[in-house]
Amino acid sequence: MKKTVVISALLTLLIQGFTARGQNYHLLPEPNYMTTKEGVYFVADRVELFGDVPEFSVINELQKATPKKKTDKRTRRIMYIFDKFVLDEGYWLSVEDTLVTIGSATTSGFLYAEQTIMQLRQEGAFMKLPGLEIIDSPRFGWRGMHLDESRHFMGKEFVLKYIDWLFSLKMNVLHWHLTDAPGWRIEIKKYPKLTEVGAWRPDRSGLSFMEADTAKAGEAMTYGGYYTQKDIKEIVRYAAERNITIIPEIEMPGHTTAALVAYPEYSCTGGPFPMPGGAKNSPYPNFCVGNEDTYVFLADILSEIAELFPSEYIHIGGDEVERSQWSRCSKCQKLKGDLKIEDDSKLQVYFTERIEEILAGMGRKLMGWDEIMEGETLTPSAGVMVWRGEDLVKRATSAGHQVVVTHNYYFDLYQGSPALEPKTYGYLPLERVYTYEPVPASSTDMERANIRGVQGCLWTEMIPDKPKAEYMLFPRILALAEVGWTQPEKKDWKRFVSSLPRYLKRLDEQQINYATSIFDPEVKLVPEGGVMTCQFSQQIPQGDIRYTLDGNEPGSGSPVYTGPVRLRGKAEIRAKAFYASGKESKTSAASYQPTLSTGKQFSLKNQPAKQYNGDRPWILNDGVKGSVSFNDGNWCGFYGDDVEFTLDLGEKQDIKSLRTNFYAQERSWIYLPEAIMVEKSDDGENWTTIASNPGPAADGTEGIKTINLVFEGVKTRFLRVKARNKGQHPVYPDGKCWIFMDEIELNQ
Ligand SMILES: [Zn+2]
Repeated sequence: MKKTVVISALLTLLIQGFTARGQNYHLLPEPNYMTTKEGVYFVADRVELFGDVPEFSVINELQKATPKKKTDKRTRRIMYIFDKFVLDEGYWLSVEDTLVTIGSATTSGFLYAEQTIMQLRQEGAFMKLPGLEIIDSPRFGWRGMHLDESRHFMGKEFVLKYIDWLFSLKMNVLHWHLTDAPGWRIEIKKYPKLTEVGAWRPDRSGLSFMEADTAKAGEAMTYGGYYTQKDIKEIVRYAAERNITIIPEIEMPGHTTAALVAYPEYSCTGGPFPMPGGAKNSPYPNFCVGNEDTYVFLADILSEIAELFPSEYIHIGGDEVERSQWSRCSKCQKLKGDLKIEDDSKLQVYFTERIEEILAGMGRKLMGWDEIMEGETLTPSAGVMVWRGEDLVKRATSAGHQVVVTHNYYFDLYQGSPALEPKTYGYLPLERVYTYEPVPASSTDMERANIRGVQGCLWTEMIPDKPKAEYMLFPRILALAEVGWTQPEKKDWKRFVSSLPRYLKRLDEQQINYATSIFDPEVKLVPEGGVMTCQFSQQIPQGDIRYTLDGNEPGSGSPVYTGPVRLRGKAEIRAKAFYASGKESKTSAASYQPTLSTGKQFSLKNQPAKQYNGDRPWILNDGVKGSVSFNDGNWCGFYGDDVEFTLDLGEKQDIKSLRTNFYAQERSWIYLPEAIMVEKSDDGENWTTIASNPGPAADGTEGIKTINLVFEGVKTRFLRVKARNKGQHPVYPDGKCWIFMDEIELNQ
């Protein structure tokens, strides 16, 4: 960039002062200072770029791609002015009727000004912009998005598009997860088997990743792919032009199956290992940390990586290492003896330090997931990516690490009602991405300064293809872009929401398959004044919600929802939003099947956990059963506690049977209860046991498990259901077991 003109238009603007007129041009991320000029428009058929124009210019590219027309008359200027007073990556932008001026001290600032212009463009001419002044710079220097291509290989075309998306939102880091258990995606010249073997697995298309089984002997390996070093160079260059640093992640010492299928000699057992087909029966060998050859192998790989990626940090993963395999390895145990360490976790610390040294020799810093801090001897120069919660942000920043916050930005989680969404796990709606403050409130100034930024993660276990990737990414990435760029005092959920339709229209034009979950109606059954009511809501209100109670698809003649609907008996509830555009939402459904217990008063000895309906335990007898997704909003989750549910039927009644559901999913720490007991009482004080049951049998399968207890001649007013929690987690002693339960049905 030439530095010809130095004038501080920034100062001029500051002297003139700002009068915000509340005009919303729907920019995302919202600029930090903006004032608009009413009635002023810059209108041009062609533009000429003058001054310190960056070598790669978005406006230039657009103009090159726009054919000249005979009617093109108005050519106007855009001036690029080097201004050393502008903050890093920042810019100022002035739009007047005949001239646009951009000031910045960095190429990235000029490019971001151009991105702002791209969003400001209005219909009517090649370049029609509203008059305004903007002074803008990012809140964080790390505004990242992660992409996991080990689980599913997306390919170069997609990655280039991904980079364009980040760039258009002024994001500047692509964290590229290139290696993991089910696939190695980057050519390493010295070890060709990493891709010849490690990039290919059996085709399990159509099966969910969790159910995709490991390769059988002799099976063809046809699913996968990898990037050649030539591809990588092209992608890194493309990203750099757009101010995006690519941080490669090469996972070690765990999450390494694909590498060890190719080169089993660097594992503890020496293998051989079958190639995973997904997660089912997948072996998880680690690198053997007690074998010196492992370090030679990894140093060779990292040296090729460092050649390809000019980033300050190389990410080595370091998460979720199953360390017990080191306890069974003589080499690892010998190392442990030599180092006089007692705990296998210290072996990982030793390993991380060795890798850090190797990277330092290449002039690079190590970054890893927050597990690399365990052991407390990690050198402060290592960067820490926090994924397990706010406490770890505090711990890492106070220890002097540069920290990237990712724990509230996992875009592989559900973004709407699980009943309406493609199957995944967890829950992260758009509003939570937007409103969550990544800097812990208790941070000291020093700790704050160590927060390098924020990053979204796109893990692809449940994302097998590109349309699904787009669906999970948009619109949540729009919220994240603003978290990274816009100062907290300028953030405003309502303003963000008002900017969304215009941005979504842009996504339509680009044919991006974004999710519209924010507009889908959600159904809740809520007892009000002793009567069960049906209530609908949307994350972002849009259009009219119309509903039916007879199971028919809502149409334009169905009643419009205006407030709680009283239910007078069984109902098959359906709800759908109808938008002004003529489009319609998905249809939400709930089946209301009242029994003797529905809506009756009850108490709980232990409350369900907050995130699993602790605030609305009435779902235990609301007449609606939980679905096959334990996080569909209809299941109560009890963490480590017994369930003790005491129901008051109001008067003595005959009861013939009790039916209830539990959920099993041990990989999510959800276990079946150890025992069930049912008691009755006429006065709520003296209790008699009427049934005891070992509970549903754990048969190794996941999902809903029902118990049905039949009584004879039981008449009671009070009824108590107890379900005993296993308590401590059988594998992780610090953890506890969940019980998930829904719908206590009582029949006469
Ligand atoms: Zn070993």
